[in-house]
Amino acid sequence: MKMLCILCDQTFILTKRQEKKQKKHPHKIQLCPDCYERITQKVESRRQQKEASAKPENRVVQAEVVS
Ligand SMILES: [Zn+2]
Repeated sequence: MKMLCILCDQTFILTKRQEKKQKKHPHKIQLCPDCYERITQKVESRRQQKEASAKPENRVVQAEVVS
């Protein structure tokens, strides 16, 4: 089954597992592997930054471990 990526308009082939998912949830958007990888990295880095700034005591602990 072929899908069109909503971000880069690139066609890509779904795996068997993704096909099942797509049939169950047709309203859900699908990303090509390239975009998926890119987005995942961005989200992960943003989450880590958020956690680091939200808990300043963690940074102090980490700094102590390093020194
Ligand atoms: Zn894409």
